[in-house]
Amino acid sequence: MSESLEDIKKDIEENLVCELKDNATNLVFGKGNPNAEILFVGEAPGGNEDKEGLPFVGRAGKQLDTLLQDIDLTIDDVYIANILKYRPPKNRDPTTEEIKNHTPYLLRQIKVIQPKVIVTLGNYATKFVMSGFKPEEMKKVQGISKLHGNPVKINFNDTQFIVIPIYHPAAMLYRPQLRETFSQDFKVINTIVEKMQKEN
Ligand code: URA
Repeated sequence: MSESLEDIKKDIEENLVCELKDNATNLVFGKGNPNAEILFVGEAPGGNEDKEGLPFVGRAGKQLDTLLQDIDLTIDDVYIANILKYRPPKNRDPTTEEIKNHTPYLLRQIKVIQPKVIVTLGNYATKFVMSGFKPEEMKKVQGISKLHGNPVKINFNDTQFIVIPIYHPAAMLYRPQLRETFSQDFKVINTIVEKMQKEN
């Protein structure tokens, strides 16, 4: 029998060995619709996410909620997960070792959810997915400022995904001038989702 999201969650809780886990309050596994066709991938939990055990519930999460609302999507239409499953201390950047350690769980989540579209939020998620899910190749991938808003088809394990890189929603908090860029990039998501819905 194939595994469920619950199986993966349990595996992380019982078997992942990681310093981040030792220092975190909660596992931040994911939220949303496990049958969604659209998966959003963020970087790592922050303080609010660590407290609540859910991704994107803090200030960046509020920005993401608004952006989703703007294109008539709700949490029931998408699934949201992160590259790292536990909060890095003081929200520092993930290390390559941590990405290597945690992303096998994300890959298993993708295998269960089987999304058609993966929206990558920010540099780390974009580089991981666009590298063909290879942490050691991430450095070769261009930054989000070059890639955002441009959908790309990626094949992985006989499955094709449309990947849409987007700036991380937290960027809007310290660079409000990006709002228009976000709106345009979410219109790209909307166009692809509408096309997908027509084909279904
Ligand atoms: N930023 C992320 O990348 N993920 C979260 O869950 C929260 C903030």
